[in-house]
This record gives sequence, structure tokens and C-alpha cells, in this order.
Amino acid sequence: MKHLTRKATRHVNQNEGLIFEKSSPGKAAWKLAPLDVPEVDTQELLGAAERKDLGLMPEVSEIEIIRHFTRLSTWNYAIDLGMYPLGSCTMKYNPRVNEVVSRLEGLANGHPYQPEKISQGALRILKTLSECLIEITGMDAITLQPAAGAHGEMTGLLMVRAYHEAKGAARKKILIPDSAHGTNPATAAMVGYGVENLKSNEHGMVDIAALAAQMNEDVAALMLTNPNTLGVFEQEIHKIADLIHAKGGLLYMDGANMNALVGKVRPGDFGVDVMHLNLHKTFSTPHGGGGPGSGPVAIKKILEPFLPKPVVVTKSDGTLAFAYDRPQSVGRVRAYYGNFGMFIRALAYILANGPDGLRQTTEDAVLNANYIRKELEGVFDLPYSTPSMHEVVFSDKLQAKKGVKTMDIAKRLIDYGFHPYTTAFPLIVPGALMIEPTESEPKEEMDLFIEAMKSIAAEVEEDPQIALTAPHTTRVSRLDETTAARKPILRWKPA
Ligand SMILES: *Cc1c(COP(=O)(O)O)cnc(C)c1O
Repeated sequence: MKHLTRKATRHVNQNEGLIFEKSSPGKAAWKLAPLDVPEVDTQELLGAAERKDLGLMPEVSEIEIIRHFTRLSTWNYAIDLGMYPLGSCTMKYNPRVNEVVSRLEGLANGHPYQPEKISQGALRILKTLSECLIEITGMDAITLQPAAGAHGEMTGLLMVRAYHEAKGAARKKILIPDSAHGTNPATAAMVGYGVENLKSNEHGMVDIAALAAQMNEDVAALMLTNPNTLGVFEQEIHKIADLIHAKGGLLYMDGANMNALVGKVRPGDFGVDVMHLNLHKTFSTPHGGGGPGSGPVAIKKILEPFLPKPVVVTKSDGTLAFAYDRPQSVGRVRAYYGNFGMFIRALAYILANGPDGLRQTTEDAVLNANYIRKELEGVFDLPYSTPSMHEVVFSDKLQAKKGVKTMDIAKRLIDYGFHPYTTAFPLIVPGALMIEPTESEPKEEMDLFIEAMKSIAAEVEEDPQIALTAPHTTRVSRLDETTAARKPILRWKPA
């Protein structure tokens, strides 16, 4: 295994059995000076709230507790440790300037119930971010309320539904290509629509003839992930938009993959009526275990009356305020105004980059994905030869001949010190390996990743068992992923 370039020693711990059993009676992480004020009756002060029996609280010294939590933190993989090529998730670096700005006292301590008069700065942030995102997407208006991408999808489709209902012609179906993100059909079903599947052509794009045949006056919208989950841009997007609009339908774009488009093209210019963004992908706010999401929905004028309320407006005296009198609004979709901390981070990112920086980001994201594609083509099967945007999708066809599947390769990648790519998605590629490096990866890190992938492919030829039994360097090997997701055990309990 001479190729083990960066063995994940950080995951290994020799003293596993001793890790949690640290407590010994009488130890404490603090020591207070003797009282020089009169003692207070805590019973009187706290009443029933006073807790006398601390149960099984561990008794440890300061260094023990520091080591405990520091050790736990090293058991996680994070973008701050290395490349995180989880396709579709855009796991990019979260610049520290975002954190600095979001911690400014006036912002961090702001409260949603604070009067508008003393919230002008916060309102200005909502307004400026909205304006930036409207400019980037080429749309007319936006809501920042939704707390995630899928939540944005739901909000967008609620507006689509309200739009058709207001016209007196409720429609029943949403068309969704088989290359769409999995949340799209789920969202359409939640909003009460029937879902009709649209087959992709051999280039991994919407089949225009099939779309023309399936489009009719019962279709409320086409829900299009663009670039789609193959990392392919819909080259006939204008034709698609025209076909939908000709029958009175709307074009919904899942814009979670905007990392491939920002600064280059604007969905509003190619016929999109409604779309969501993922601030926690494209605009560098932390996600996964790192923080809450944010999924703003941008719309064209025709949908404006249906925006969630309240919306931010400028009053005649120039100050900003929330407007609630919106009779056609789909209502509130989130407590307060959305994940405000994420708005600050996204705005900091946008302003720090500026228009040229954002464009460069997009170009680098696409360049990086294509670098990996070029280096690994032939080592792994490439099912679609259409140009890649920000991510590249291989299949495990070559390795499957030895019985090794995409999941096994992903598990082996952990031994090499990388987070796995996305496995078995998109569904239209059997045994998919979906790789998205993002623009933040230096060439040196991508070269290590490429070397690791080539090394795994070579191992599979020599001894498939290595991958089939991977990972070998982690604290635990393969877990029951369904149980881990459905019935997670999140707390250690004494034996
Ligand atoms: C991530 C993603 C979503 C869902 O976003 P969440 O914030 O996870 O709800 C939807 N569509 C695409 C294309 C995505 O990549």
C-alpha cells in the first residue's frame, strides 16, 4: 500500500475502552476562593428548581474535560481538514471573514422582537442580500424565509399553486426529469401535486420531444435542476421554457447548483419563473453538522403577490420596515425572518468577492471538476460524455467486474483521508460516483485525491477484498446506515 499518501491516523485511537470512563470521585475542573460575602439560602433563591442530586455527572479535572471534547472533535471529518467531494452538496470552504462579521455584537445580539426603529441595520442586511441575489439570478423579487433547499422548493411550489388558483385554473401535475434532485418529486408530492417523470436523452438532458408530448394544460410547472445532477447544463433551456410557457405552465429551477452559473448566466434571462438558492452551498455558509441552512426563493413579477410575508419595504421617510398586509401571500413559512446568521455570512461572502470574484469562483469550480474528470477518465467509467459543469459523475462499471461497487470505493477513500464522494446518485447512472471538488480545493489537494482514486482502482484489480472490507483505519468500520439514520444513538450512557 505504498500509495497511502495521507493515512487517516486522526480517526484511530488505541485506548478506545478508556475514552469515556474518565470520572473519579472528588475531582473537579474548578476551585472557588472562600466566600467573602454572606451565604445565600439556595432553597429560597431557586425553590423547586434547585437540583441537589447531580446524578451521574462525571467528576473530572479541567485538562481531562478539555482533552475529552478536543478528542471528540477530531473524530469528525470536516472541510477544514481536507477535501470533501460530496457531489451536489457543494462542500466549499467557509471563509473566516463570514464568521467575523456574523459575530459583530450588534448583529449577534439582535433579537427578532426588537422594534423596527432599532433594527434598521438588520433590515438593511435583508434588503441588500435580497438585491444581490436578485441581481445574480436575474429575477424580480425574493423571499429569504426558507430554512433549506427543500424548504425553498416547497415555498416555490406553494407560490406556483397560488398563482394557478388565483387564475381560477388549479392544475394537478408537476413534470420532473429523471436527472432532478431527489427532493424535487418529494416536494411536489408534499404540496399536493402528482409527479410525472420525464426521461432524459442520451446526452443526459431533457428530451425536447418527450417534453412536448407530455406538456399540457394540467401541468402546473416543470421542475428542473440546472445544471442537473449529472453536472450537465440544459443546453436547450430556451426551448424548454418556451414549451412550458406556451401551455400556461411555469418553469421552476432548482438552483442549488448555482455554483456552476453565478456571474456567467442568469436563470431569469433564460426563462425561469421561480427558483431556489442554497446559501449553504453556493454562498459559503456552513452546512451539514456545521450550521443551519438557508434556501431563498427568487421569482418573477407574476408571482410577487404570493411571496411569504412579511416582506421588507422602504417607507416614505426612507427607513425600512416589514409589510404584513399581503392578502394573496402564501403566508409565513418560517418563524421570524429566516436564518439571519446565514444571511450575514452569505452577504459577507458576496461583498468580499465582488462581481469578478464570484465569476472567478464559478470558473474555478468548473475547472476543478473538469481537471478531475480528465485525470480519472478511463480509470473509472464515464457514462455521459456531455461537458461537465461543477461536478462529474463516473460509474463503478469497471470495478463492478471484480465485485466492487461505488459504496466500497467510497469506504476505501476514507482510509486515504478523504470524505467520500456521493454514492449511487443520480439514480439514472447505476453505481454512480458523483464528485464535486468546488473551487476551494488547491491543485495539490486534488492531486492527492486523484492519486488516491487511482490507487484504489489499482487495488481493486489486485485484491478486491481491500475495498470490500474498507474502511480499515476508522474507529468503527461499516455501520448499519439505515439504523444510524432512523434510530441514532446520540448520547453516551454509562454501561
Ligand atoms: C442540496 C440540494 C437540494 C436540497 O437542499 P437542502 O438544503 O439539503 O434541503 C435540492 N436540490 C439540489 C440540486 C441539491 O443539490
